[in-house]
Amino acid sequence: MTEGAKPLGPVPAGFEGGAGELVIGGRTATDLAAQGTPCFVYARAQIASRMESLRAAMPARLKVHYAVKANPFGPLLAMMTQLADGLDIASGGELALVEAAGADLARVSFAGPGKRDDELAAALRAGVTINLESAGEARRTLALAERAGITPRLALRVNPDFGLKGSGMKMGGGARPFGIDAEHAAALAKEIIAAGCEWRGLHIFAGSQALDAEAVIATQSATLDLAHQLAREIGAPLPALNLGGGFGIPYFAGDAPLDVMAVGAALAERFANLPETLAEAELAIELGRYLVGEAGVYLTRIVDRKESRGETFLVTDGGLHHQLAASGNFGTVVRRNYPLAIANRFDAPATDIASVVGCLCTPLDILGQRAALPRAGVGDLVAVFCAGAYGASASPASFLGHGPAREMLV
Ligand SMILES: *Cc1c(COP(=O)(O)O)cnc(C)c1O
Repeated sequence: MTEGAKPLGPVPAGFEGGAGELVIGGRTATDLAAQGTPCFVYARAQIASRMESLRAAMPARLKVHYAVKANPFGPLLAMMTQLADGLDIASGGELALVEAAGADLARVSFAGPGKRDDELAAALRAGVTINLESAGEARRTLALAERAGITPRLALRVNPDFGLKGSGMKMGGGARPFGIDAEHAAALAKEIIAAGCEWRGLHIFAGSQALDAEAVIATQSATLDLAHQLAREIGAPLPALNLGGGFGIPYFAGDAPLDVMAVGAALAERFANLPETLAEAELAIELGRYLVGEAGVYLTRIVDRKESRGETFLVTDGGLHHQLAASGNFGTVVRRNYPLAIANRFDAPATDIASVVGCLCTPLDILGQRAALPRAGVGDLVAVFCAGAYGASASPASFLGHGPAREMLV
C-alpha cells in the first residue's frame, strides 16, 4: 500500500536496471558500493552525451564553458577540460584545480565577488581572464598588474536590470553583490581599456536553475540587447560576450526538462542578425548543473530500519553532510523529494512507504520523505539521483565528523 506517499522526482535518462540493479557506467550499484559507502558516482557516458546533444541544439558559433563550482572533482574536471570550450572559476582554489587539471589557461575566466589580492595576483600570473565585479576590484587589479609588469586580461561582469524569470537563484537584477550595475558599466570599461588592459568584453549572468525555455530565451535576448547598447556606449565592438547560463535540470515531480532545442533555435535566429558591435565577438554560455548534475548518483547504505508511531524510517550511512540540496536545505523554500531508488532492487515494485534519513543527529537530515519504495532493509543501497552538481563540494562535510564521501568517475 503506497497511498499517501509523497512523490519522487524523475529518475534522469540513461540509468537503466540490469539484473534488477541500478547500473552506472556499466557497473552495478553493489559493485560500485563494495569499496565503501557513502559514495558519489559520476557517469562519463552521461556527461559526454549531454554535451553532445547540447552542442547539437545550439548554434555552432556558441562556445560552451563549464562552471567549475558545480563539481570540481579532479577526474571529472579533467574530462570537462577536454569537453568544454572554456572553464569558469570563482576562487583562487579553483584556479589551482584547473591548473592541476591541465586546462588551457587562456580559456579560463575568473568571476566572483570578494577576490583577494593574492587570488588576483595568481590569476594575473596565470593569464586567465578576470571578470571584474566592481570598480574597486578593477582598480586593485590594475594596480597589482602594474606592479607585476603584466598586461591584465579583463572583462566586466555586468549586473543587468533584469533577472532570469523563474530561476531557482537570481543572480542579476536589482541590488546585487555581483557585477557592476549596467548603468555604470560603460564608464568603467572605458577606464580599464584606457589603462591598457587586454579587453575581454562582458559577462552577464542573470540566474540559475531555469526550466522554462521562454524565460531563458527572453533573458538571452535581453542580454544581447544590453551588450550591444553597452558596446555602443564604450565605443568599440566587443571581443567576447559571456551570456551566462542558468539551464536547469528536473529535480522534482512535475518538473519538465528544459527545451534546449527551442533555446538553440532562438539563439540561432539572433546570431543570424547580430549588430556590428557583436559581429566579431566570441559568444559563450557557462553551465555547471546542466552539464553534470544528472550524471551523478549518491549511493548510501541502509544501516537501520525502524518504525516510529506508524512510520517507517530507513536510516542510512549518508546524509545532508554530502547531499545538502537533497535534504532541502540548499536554496529551496519547501522541501520536496529528489528522485531516489533502492539501487539493488531497482526493478522491484514499490510496496512500502518509508522515509529515508541520514545518520546526522538533526531533524533536517532527510533524503526522502514518505517515499513509495520496494521493501528495503539493513544492507540495501539507496541511490539519490541528480547528485552530480552541488553535492560533495556544496555540503557541510565536516558537520558531525563523519568525513567526506568517496567520489568516482566511471
Ligand atoms: C554558479 C555559476 C554558474 C553555474 O551555474 P549553474 O546553475 O550550475 O549552471 C555560472 N556562472 C556563474 C557566474 C555562476 O556563479
